Amino acid sequence: MPVPLIQQVRVGAYVLRQKLRGNARYPLVLMLEPLFRCNLACAGCGKIDYPDPILNRRMSVQDCLDAAEECGAPIVSIPGGEPLLHKEIVEIVNGLVARKKFVYLCTNALLMEKRLDRFTPSPYLTFSVHLDGDREHHDRAVSQEGVFDRAVSAIRAARQRGFRVTINCTLFDYADPKNVAEFLSFACDELDVEGVTVAPGYAYERAPVQEHFMTRTRTKDFFRALFRLGSGRKWRFNQSSLYLDFLAGNQQYRCTPWGNPTRNIFGWQRPCYLLSEGYAPTFKALMEETDWDSYGTGNYEKCANCMVHCGYEPTAVIDTVAHPLKALKIALRGVDTEKPMVADIPLENQRPAEFVFEALTAQLKEAEAGPQKRSDAA
Ligand code: SF4
Ligand code: SF4
Repeated sequence: MPVPLIQQVRVGAYVLRQKLRGNARYPLVLMLEPLFRCNLACAGCGKIDYPDPILNRRMSVQDCLDAAEECGAPIVSIPGGEPLLHKEIVEIVNGLVARKKFVYLCTNALLMEKRLDRFTPSPYLTFSVHLDGDREHHDRAVSQEGVFDRAVSAIRAARQRGFRVTINCTLFDYADPKNVAEFLSFACDELDVEGVTVAPGYAYERAPVQEHFMTRTRTKDFFRALFRLGSGRKWRFNQSSLYLDFLAGNQQYRCTPWGNPTRNIFGWQRPCYLLSEGYAPTFKALMEETDWDSYGTGNYEKCANCMVHCGYEPTAVIDTVAHPLKALKIALRGVDTEKPMVADIPLENQRPAEFVFEALTAQLKEAEAGPQKRSDAA
């Protein structure tokens, strides 16, 4: 069950249009976070460590639709928090679908099966279910037993009703390639999902457990081991072949943080979904006024180990458009797991990390108390 042709054509045409217009920076996927509240508290999560008044805030339906228009990306991913906790999530999704945006509703699936009736199957709507491996691994990653079984049940129900479903699998350093290989076969063969997104977890500074994030070296070794086990198995990844090649140490990529811009209750997040170092009031201001060169591996300490898809998939997509034959060769033959890895980006000149969370949260709370318009909806 590949990505529908309509999505491939529209996204391909969008990228070509941007190239013809000579746009050096353009978004591919809008990361829309309509709330930070979640019904889980995963050990590796860096999104939910806000005080209650902030966790209680929601973006309104209109704010969400305006953000999608303002940004113009053909794909809108809705993470959070848990978006199914937003009382108007159906209106948000329907509004985006009506605007022909390809929506990926990212959910931990605890509420998904119960809420399926409220949604309508469409080539424009995909449930992207957070599942970090088999029962043991996932329940450990989300710090709660029984979540894997509920997610699997919700996926089966959604597939039966004709919904598009993908799995978003974040890997930590205790992941075992053999287990992950079995999990990928289970997801593709038994759960019949459209594809799986795999990536190493980003070392969020606010994540409650810090010691399990993978380094770049560990990530590359892990993916080589995994892809060796994948030979002959028909895994479907919801990612470009060049991003997978990058994970296996065969590409020296720099990230493209503006490829997946983030809009949440505070505004447009600088510089990316993973790092929160300030906010821009408009998408235009985000694109034009962010000092992009001060971020990325080799430039900033907090970016040293990042290999996450939201930063590097856009780089891989741009490389695919520039070198389609290179990408096609990898798609057909698979990722080379034996050749020497390319050198990594040197870290000697990276600027030290700045710790801005407390000051930023205080600033945001202060702004909240001021006369500005709030966007609470639920
Ligand atoms: S990782 Fe996702 S599911 Fe887990 S606490 Fe964070 S937002 Fe919720
Ligand atoms: S490397 Fe890029 S994508 Fe990763 S945290 Fe840094 S700016 Fe964001």
